[in-house]
Amino acid sequence: MTIRKETHVCYNITGKPWPRISRLGLASVVVCLMIGQMAAAAPTYRIYPLRNGICKIAGNHAYYEGDSDKTYGFALYIWLVLGGDKPILIDAGLSDVEEMNRGAAHVLREPITQNKNESGTAQLRKFGLTPDDIGHVLITHLHFDHVDDLLIYKNAKVYIGKKEWEMATTAAPTWGHGKIMHEFSNTPSCRKRLVLVQDQEVLPGIESFWVGGHTPGSMAYRVNTAHGKTVLTGDTISLLGNFERNIPLGIFSDLQECIEAMKNIRKKADIVLPSHDPGTLDRWPPAPKNAIKYTIRAIKVGQCEVRDYITFQDTDSEQTSTYYLYVWLIEGGPKPIIVDTGPKYPEEFSKSTAKYIPGGVRQLPEERTIKALKRYGIDPADVSHVIVTHLHPDHYDYFDAFPKARFVVNRREYEETTGQLGSGRNRLATDVRKTLDKRPDALQLVEDEEVVSGVRVFPLGCHSPGSQGILVRTQMGPVVIAGDVVYKYENIEKDRPGRSPDERACREAMARIRSLADIVLPAHDPLTLERWPDGIIGICTTD
Ligand SMILES: [Zn+2]
Ligand SMILES: [Zn+2]
Ligand SMILES: [Zn+2]
Repeated sequence: MTIRKETHVCYNITGKPWPRISRLGLASVVVCLMIGQMAAAAPTYRIYPLRNGICKIAGNHAYYEGDSDKTYGFALYIWLVLGGDKPILIDAGLSDVEEMNRGAAHVLREPITQNKNESGTAQLRKFGLTPDDIGHVLITHLHFDHVDDLLIYKNAKVYIGKKEWEMATTAAPTWGHGKIMHEFSNTPSCRKRLVLVQDQEVLPGIESFWVGGHTPGSMAYRVNTAHGKTVLTGDTISLLGNFERNIPLGIFSDLQECIEAMKNIRKKADIVLPSHDPGTLDRWPPAPKNAIKYTIRAIKVGQCEVRDYITFQDTDSEQTSTYYLYVWLIEGGPKPIIVDTGPKYPEEFSKSTAKYIPGGVRQLPEERTIKALKRYGIDPADVSHVIVTHLHPDHYDYFDAFPKARFVVNRREYEETTGQLGSGRNRLATDVRKTLDKRPDALQLVEDEEVVSGVRVFPLGCHSPGSQGILVRTQMGPVVIAGDVVYKYENIEKDRPGRSPDERACREAMARIRSLADIVLPAHDPLTLERWPDGIIGICTTD
């Protein structure tokens, strides 16, 4: 994963940088340090609902006194919370779907289904995380679908409501997940990680509080986010409709507690995230009304073997690893948008890079850009924008494939490549030059700006003078297409910059990327097609 760091800039009262250390200045320093400390004490978290399955529930179970002829879709989630010392989960999700369907048959109108990309492990992989990376798991209650997978988070502290734990371990029959309760009661490696919580701050900026209602000891968690105090309610509020219509769920241990819980949550929350509402994926993270949420498709247009001393600044090894070449297709707007064109002349590119790309680029006939796009139903003449991360041949030399597109290029990158800055030699690819001669208005030189609503470019430097990143708004939140500043996940996730004359610039560029998004797409990593099923990025699940 990428660890995002928020920087706190301090200003004096006039908003200008410090003039000199005067008394006012000193007072401001003190205030600033205090703010710094407060900020350190209460991080702003980013919450990602990760779908873990779906099912259908009868109306009388979804709502107290509801219509049993009605059926409601339910979604199961685990909630990834980033921004703290270590990644956090709220609820652990399930993997034994069969057992859950057997045990909960009486409330399921249609059984739970979970596709293979909805397991906790598969969902975390999108963020570059494994279960071992999770530092804390906060449990709302001990029902099967919320704790079944708990044992895979071996390094996590596990927080469970004190009342929930005490009552579930003494009730007969219990509502708690038998195996999980057994392990956390008896196995030392589990027991020592168990933390029983009441109404308290469990982690900086995250509070637990008892709600009861659905189970006697159900807990809710209030999380400090950029969108305000966000309450993850647990099943006491399962659907947003429970909260909005003020009608409790039909499955409860105490109705009055459910009603009180809703009142209490109303007081505490700026925004609520119910436990099972399928609409959450469209509602969170909050976006402006009617905002387009894009998907990004990684389309492979070739591959090659690249020496490690190029991939990493910190080695001289001549070993190689596999690179994929991608065209990134951004869909969801009025017209398709492309990031990078793929190579037009891979043989030429291979000749000029033979020293560090032994064997050159291999491209199957169906991987030629135009054919590859057609496979996904995209007519290149329909593409409205071709945004290029930088002007190296494998990323941009196929402008003429897109007869109606605007070509969005970083200004400095363009001026350096055409010789207006620096060398004075025009190194722009001949075919690209011809295309731009014919359609000069198609060139759009950019710096740090929004290209279309929800798609931004920002300068990075590092790999080439005007390398730029592309920030795309998706259903899951912001995603950065990083270009060659990040060749592979390892560059950014293990903090190992690629080969470059200016390592500092590369570290700064990677820090900028981290500050903008938790989901980062390196230019050339084959792993993207494993992390994201079918190469579709930015949606939590595909069905
Ligand atoms: Zn439950
Ligand atoms: Zn549940
Ligand atoms: Zn590249």
